[in-house]
Amino acid sequence: MLEGKTALVTGSTSGIGLGIALALAGSGAHVMLNGLGDADGALDRAGRAAQAGGRGARVRYHGADMSRPAEIEDMVRSCEREFGALDILVNNAGIQHVANVEDFPPERWDAIIAINLSSAFHAMRLALPGMKHRGWGRVVNIASAHGLVASAGKSAYVAAKHGLVGLTKAAALECAASGVTVNAICPGWVLTPLVQQQVDARAARDGVDDAEAKRRLLAEKQPSLRFTTPEQLAELALFLCSSAADNVLGVAWGVDGGWTAQ
Ligand code: NAD
Repeated sequence: MLEGKTALVTGSTSGIGLGIALALAGSGAHVMLNGLGDADGALDRAGRAAQAGGRGARVRYHGADMSRPAEIEDMVRSCEREFGALDILVNNAGIQHVANVEDFPPERWDAIIAINLSSAFHAMRLALPGMKHRGWGRVVNIASAHGLVASAGKSAYVAAKHGLVGLTKAAALECAASGVTVNAICPGWVLTPLVQQQVDARAARDGVDDAEAKRRLLAEKQPSLRFTTPEQLAELALFLCSSAADNVLGVAWGVDGGWTAQ
């Protein structure tokens, strides 16, 4: 389906980003991976997904720190050099910190806004001209249920994700007649390293085991009482990249087990 297309997935060394990168590579897109941590492991898994897909996709890695605009620029340009173009941009890198506003460390606020929001702006401002010029492009921003509703203790994350949904809508309008679509996916709980940290914190706080901490986390927000998987989000990302989604513009698509329906 995506044979010959080229993709950049930020924060794709683990979790949701890695799931989306594997699906894109399996569908034939050349993929530039990015993120901290185990780059070799991610490259290995994406290489195997590309091979299994049998459509000749190539995978590469760039270690840009998404809080640094100059490194984001270097990554976008090296993707264009390596693959000839950048057709699909998935803005996924993200971090979390939980504290009330009055206790929130200012440097954590700045890091969350930089990595969860401004990085998407920088990658988009660099990638959109080429997409518009070629008359085809896809931007998929991984926002959150917290892009639509709030939770106590997550002011920076909620502000960044609401901002990302707003950025998505504004850019979608700017691109509306160009063949480029810009959309957001808003997951509820997905069991990744980012959420396991919150499960661990709850287990310690409540004095319960891992399974009970997960049950309590889900019960508080997600009526389905099930985690969404990275694979399910990857299927949605593939749909947004397909021609069936040519006229899907500026949506903030919840995959949240009923979280935001309440
Ligand atoms: P994760 O911790 O597994 O992955 C985060 C990725 O971002 C990793 O690859 C990490 O290396 C990368 N990253 C972090 N800081 C970076 C930096 N400075 N530069 C480059 N890369 C950096 O977490 P995840 O749950 O897969 O989260 C992915 C995205 O999904 C995030 O934007 C998160 O807010 C969003 N999200 C997650 C959930 C959930 O329940 N897990 C729900 C809604 C939205």
